[in-house]
Amino acid sequence: MENNIAWYREKQVERTIKNLNKRNMEGYYIKDKEQLLIKLEELIGEHTTVGVGDSITLFETGVIEFLRSGKFEFLDKFEDGLSGEDKKEIYIKNFSANSFLCSTNAITEEGELYNIDGNGSRVAPMLYGPKQVIIVAGINKIVKNLDEAQIRVRQYAAPLDAKRLNKDTPCTKIGYCVNCSSPNRICNDFVTITGQFIKGRIKVLIVDGCFGY
Ligand code: SF4
Repeated sequence: MENNIAWYREKQVERTIKNLNKRNMEGYYIKDKEQLLIKLEELIGEHTTVGVGDSITLFETGVIEFLRSGKFEFLDKFEDGLSGEDKKEIYIKNFSANSFLCSTNAITEEGELYNIDGNGSRVAPMLYGPKQVIIVAGINKIVKNLDEAQIRVRQYAAPLDAKRLNKDTPCTKIGYCVNCSSPNRICNDFVTITGQFIKGRIKVLIVDGCFGY
């Protein structure tokens, strides 16, 4: 990466981590996928329960494979052959997991997390339940403030997610959000996390690179 761009990114990540910390969330800069797995080894105890939310980032960074290593009691919602009822059971178990891993749709430089969800199974355990929530996000998820977060998620992440899920919605045809009222709409929950009572319950691992949407 060109030196000045690297410098800009470093400063942006520094600001974001400082502001996450002010809000009782722990921010970490992670330089690559290898360092990410080392950090996760350190944060997640062996044989403890781990749940996950839907996330392209967790696949792209090798985290799902890591969780399937047998070292953890992994509540694997992606396992082949699970029925809708099996998944529902996992979603409920996620609330009492030791660790819940997911990504986020946007992180503001002011230290807020912004997410849109369809059925709430990802955002609900972020808000309450698991002893720790570990968010893995590429630096591509950092935005200036909540206004930019809303635009990013509404006009970029959500249409891509609808496309990934093969939804019959306007955005999967035209490539942008029209705030549809389709029965297949995936944008139902709009959640901003601005802080935590329990210091460090939410840990945000910002990985250098572009992951997920
Ligand atoms: S509100 Fe509708 S059109 Fe907009 S991103 Fe969500 S599903 Fe697509």
